[in-house]
Amino acid sequence: RKKKVPCRSGVELQKLVDKAKRKANEGKVASYIPALQLENPEDLSCAILFPNNDCISAGDIEKKFTLQSISKIISLAYALIDLGEEHVFHKVGMEPTGDPFNSIIKLETESQAKPLNPMINAGALAITSLIKGKDANEKFTNLLQFVRKLAGDESIGFNREVAISEFNTSHLNRSLCFFMKNSGVIIGDVEEIMEVYTKQCAIEMNCLTLARIGYIFAFDGKDPETNEQLIPKSVARICKTFMVTCGMYNASGEFAIKIGIPAKSGVSGGIMGSVPGRFGIGIFGPALNEIGNSHTGLTLLEYLAEKYELSMF
Ligand code: GLN
Repeated sequence: RKKKVPCRSGVELQKLVDKAKRKANEGKVASYIPALQLENPEDLSCAILFPNNDCISAGDIEKKFTLQSISKIISLAYALIDLGEEHVFHKVGMEPTGDPFNSIIKLETESQAKPLNPMINAGALAITSLIKGKDANEKFTNLLQFVRKLAGDESIGFNREVAISEFNTSHLNRSLCFFMKNSGVIIGDVEEIMEVYTKQCAIEMNCLTLARIGYIFAFDGKDPETNEQLIPKSVARICKTFMVTCGMYNASGEFAIKIGIPAKSGVSGGIMGSVPGRFGIGIFGPALNEIGNSHTGLTLLEYLAEKYELSMF
């Protein structure tokens, strides 16, 4: 099943993309995952998917990128559907943090080392550890099938080079896992969790497909083409809430004030936006700010927020 949503070039959108691009030199591509260093900081693309398959785009929308932390919202949805709220929130909390996404400090200070929320690395690793399957391969395939369903595209896969590059350099994420294993939050083999997690972060798509997934969350879990309920409404609501409170890491408060929509970023430079009841947004701009959010992507969203009154508050 590969559906193609036609997307027309947005003239206004392209102007805003070109303007935001001028800020590319203020950001830097991620380098702690060596394979991500190869990206071009000047790239900036955006797609916005409206109801009735109306779609506008700007920039190179064929360009694929890896989801990185954006995958955390999808694995959370998957775990909530598969295991239910009680099980999931027994493992991870619901509170935002002012610490960086990969911080380990709270695992020692919070009782029982339960990660604060599923959007920081510790919480996302705990969620990934819950995915069912006989081995890493089956677990990852189960998650990938879910992503393909949301994407409406059976050809969605992962970037092996990026996955291996992260797997080989994930000393901090391994440490988070061992910490949580020590306290019983994680059960199971750390290497296996790392394999599933790094492949999950390396799932690849373009900004049009990302806009489609953003749309599904914006429209209470419904498929933009068939209206089929792909995610239960209650799960879509929980995910959107985490996107507001924790989606932009420790800059989520500032983002809520300046832009005011549920969104999730990744260190590849991707941002998925879900404007409730209005549209889904997919952005790729690999020039990052110090926090690890796309600098050009955020700049573009600020322009869009102003022009189209995006804020839901
Ligand atoms: N794979 C990345 C990591 O675990 C995802 C983090 C991110 O996008 N912020 O470090």
